[in-house]
Amino acid sequence: MHDLHTHTTASDGVLSPTALLERALKNGVTQLAITDHDSVAGYLAVADTEVAECLTLISGVELSTLWRGVGVHVVGLDFDARHPQMTALLAAQAQARKERALTIVEKLAKRNMPIDFSALADEVGAANIGRPHIAAKMVEKGYVKSVNRAFSKYLGAGKIGDVNSAWCALDAGVAAIVNSGGVAVLAHPDHYKMTRTKLLALMTDFKEAGGQAIEVISGRQHKNITEKLTQIAKDKGFYASLGSDFHRPLSYAADVGELPPLPAAVKPVWDLFKTVN
Ligand code: AMP
Ligand code: MN
Ligand code: MN
Ligand code: MN
Repeated sequence: MHDLHTHTTASDGVLSPTALLERALKNGVTQLAITDHDSVAGYLAVADTEVAECLTLISGVELSTLWRGVGVHVVGLDFDARHPQMTALLAAQAQARKERALTIVEKLAKRNMPIDFSALADEVGAANIGRPHIAAKMVEKGYVKSVNRAFSKYLGAGKIGDVNSAWCALDAGVAAIVNSGGVAVLAHPDHYKMTRTKLLALMTDFKEAGGQAIEVISGRQHKNITEKLTQIAKDKGFYASLGSDFHRPLSYAADVGELPPLPAAVKPVWDLFKTVN
């Protein structure tokens, strides 16, 4: 069983890379990709360990990119995680994340929701800081009742904390993945709330840039969405990927490995991998 989209404490997941691997093994995953936001640190931390030998661990990353002003996530799979072009891009993205987090904190301060940025940065430590860390702090401070509320009121799409300008362009993200020997996958196409026309335009540009696959299954999604994305993958000649997008154990979100099989009508992305099973 394959799960090609997961997070660890190297970004906004709650499990350490080792704990994630153990959970994946327990859940019957045979091929796993750790795809932290703009970081390969979690993957590298376990890549050569014993537990990683019990399943096939694929290198992974989830890049935050910008397309026509919209934040679009691109998953990279089966690339050289130490390739200089990837390393350089990830360093720039990590720096952009820090600056963006500070910008968001400043915007919140203007709305009477002060957060001590250096204390927050200390708590986040070596992980790549993201909006979920800020959301958790807003809950802790009593500014909002829940992380969901922090997103729906302040941090989500179109709100004051939705700062995308720092990210690399879509084609630069795809190029870094392709040039380091990997496969670029358009993450969770249904999350962008785009019209069908716009989504197809995104996919055309993504393909032009060198993207080869789309996530046909992302977490617990309605079968209508899977059917729609299967059809699009076939029509546009994309390979198909799938992943839980696991961040933490939650009753309402997919666990690591909790995924239906890929539809038979699409070609699986792992056919493109150099890493042997
Ligand atoms: P960032 O990487 O800083 O852009 O933050 C994006 C991350 O926030 C996503 O990868 C999700 O893990 C998380 N996220 C997005 N929307 C929500 C939401 N409504 N509630 C909780 N977490 C969310
Ligand atoms: Mn996340
Ligand atoms: Mn994502
Ligand atoms: Mn993700």
